[in-house]
Amino acid sequence: MSILNIVVAERTYNDLRVAASRRGTSVDSLAGAALGDYFKNDGHRMYQISTSSALVEGVYTGAISSRDLLLHGDFGLGTFENLDGEMVISDGAIYQVHSDGKVLRRDDDFQIPFAVVTRYQPEAMFETGTITNLGDLERVCDQHRESNNLFYAFHVDGAFEKIHARAVSPVGAGIRLADAAKAQREFEFKGVEGTLVCFWSPGYSSAFNVPGYHFHFLSKDRSEGGHVLDVRAMTLRIGVQTLCEYDIQLPDQGSFLTTDLSRDPSSDLARTE
Ligand SMILES: [Zn+2]
Repeated sequence: MSILNIVVAERTYNDLRVAASRRGTSVDSLAGAALGDYFKNDGHRMYQISTSSALVEGVYTGAISSRDLLLHGDFGLGTFENLDGEMVISDGAIYQVHSDGKVLRRDDDFQIPFAVVTRYQPEAMFETGTITNLGDLERVCDQHRESNNLFYAFHVDGAFEKIHARAVSPVGAGIRLADAAKAQREFEFKGVEGTLVCFWSPGYSSAFNVPGYHFHFLSKDRSEGGHVLDVRAMTLRIGVQTLCEYDIQLPDQGSFLTTDLSRDPSSDLARTE
């Protein structure tokens, strides 16, 4: 046993005391059990803020602070308020890819409208043969997915002969994603080492996530990146993680509450994401 001294919010402490007395146990035991639970389940858990339908309908206001998001994972992707670039989360740091493909590491505390993260713990690693396009890479990853009904994280590393990527430009609130995407910029990187952060999501998830593969690129020197449209490489190293526990935090204020989210976003997502 070890002794842990921690500072928690007054409200958390009060909740803990009430719950402990209701269960006839000590604050120490209950806090220890809750912490144990948090770490035990982490390997297959993903966390998401807001939904892809909200993004499609133009809900781009922040709904979680960057520091809080990082408590839920160290690996992921998303976007920024007013669609100000593509988000890549790698090794616990958040990177903002601006519409010119240049990258800014964000260590400040800011609000995020949409993101998906996990605590990356690969179950298996494998190497690919020659990858001539994104379809090749997806087919190789397909062979390492056990099911079409679970979610997966893929961490892809290596030297890329070519990466074709894009990044969105900032837009005003309420402009639908399909219109916002018209202002996106595309660029090509050649002979670059780096990482692809990827989630694969089942077709049934289109109302809240992005079905299929979703790759974001970050170069090894952290200077270039973007949402991946195409890729070419001699060989790549890939780690895979199965995700079957899924927390979605919905925004509890702002335009998310009043926007009509009843439309099926599948076709817009297929075009824009
Ligand atoms: Zn993307």
